[in-house]
Amino acid sequence: MDTPSGILKFLKPGQFEAVKEFAKDKETPFLVVNLNYIEKNFDELEKNLPYAKIYYAVKANPNNEVIKILAERGSNFDVATIFEMDQLFSLGISPERMSYGNTIKKEKDIAYAYEKGIRLFATDSDSDLNKIARQAPGSRVFFRILCDGSGADWPLSRKFGAHPDVIFNLAIKAKKIGLEPYGLSFHVGSQQRDIGQWDNAIAQCKYMFDSLSEAGIDLKMINMGGGFPSNYMQPSNDIEIYAKEVTRFLEEDFGEDFPEIIVEPGRSIAGGSGVLVSEAVLISQKSVTNHYSWLYIDAGKFGGLIETLDEAIKYPIFTESSASGELEENESNLKEYIIAGPTCDSMDILYEQNKYKLDKNLKEGDKMYILTTGAYTTSYSAVCFNGIPPLKTYITRF
Ligand SMILES: *Cc1c(COP(=O)(O)O)cnc(C)c1O
Repeated sequence: MDTPSGILKFLKPGQFEAVKEFAKDKETPFLVVNLNYIEKNFDELEKNLPYAKIYYAVKANPNNEVIKILAERGSNFDVATIFEMDQLFSLGISPERMSYGNTIKKEKDIAYAYEKGIRLFATDSDSDLNKIARQAPGSRVFFRILCDGSGADWPLSRKFGAHPDVIFNLAIKAKKIGLEPYGLSFHVGSQQRDIGQWDNAIAQCKYMFDSLSEAGIDLKMINMGGGFPSNYMQPSNDIEIYAKEVTRFLEEDFGEDFPEIIVEPGRSIAGGSGVLVSEAVLISQKSVTNHYSWLYIDAGKFGGLIETLDEAIKYPIFTESSASGELEENESNLKEYIIAGPTCDSMDILYEQNKYKLDKNLKEGDKMYILTTGAYTTSYSAVCFNGIPPLKTYITRF
């Protein structure tokens, strides 16, 4: 078979037609989430990492329908706030299926989580550990190791985790103050394209398991966080390859009998499920001699596309005319565009260094299809900047 071209590099045959049909009479911008993909991505991860417990990172896409479908499939959940907890409780999800994974917590929120039945907490600092001991006695705690996030398109570096010497002391102390030092966690950075980063992190875990064991603390769990990929412009490996490699790293360090493993996927579950449908609002030329145009669309940094900060995440963008891939066959059909959002903030530019090649005959009012936008879009959308309502979601299947 020929290698797919155009939008077929990202969608299955027929899916674009379905989105187009769905979008026909609707006012843009909006996100279409295909639940079939949420299920498929979850099932694939489960199949490829059969030994792991999945805790979906709610922040990636907190839509009720998404959460419900994952809950039905047996997912657990990584929650960061009491608000996420309450949302999940309202959907009937029990506290044993939740991990309070934020290392930054108010003491009263820990008390709330404990009162509601949550018994699994992440931590990376002495002060937070003391708060957990006071408000959630006897709970299981896992300690987050610092990863620098290199190799990731959306690094979570520096802010979370601590160095091994700090973690060592926390684990020793946890036991003394009535908590159960249960495991370690790390997050190699979101959209991590260098699989070797898991090797480093797992090796650090092995080292910590051994040194803590010598000190009389036997950890039982490794939480490998998220970082698994979605399909953007920058190529990444398939989830099968990630899973195979990560499993190999675990076996190399821990043998056949490795600890309880948790993963917290967000992006890899939700990203590919979404298409953000937008519209060209204005096309302009800032100088008569520029070879590129400015293309202003009705979705921007404040309307769900904040991960374009520093042009970190490069979403595939198609118009109806470019979807087939035929335009690409002849460069003279294309023009370079700087793509910007609709608001009155000058940082609301999506791609300026990376110019997108699109139909040179693009018209104002043409629809733009921004792919792989199921994760980290609606949850990041501003509520009323310039009066623009938050990004709307339609849930569908196709
Ligand atoms: C955001 C987050 C995740 C999800 O990461 P992805 O790269 O989107 O899979 C997992 N764990 C924690 C603690 C997070 O904060």
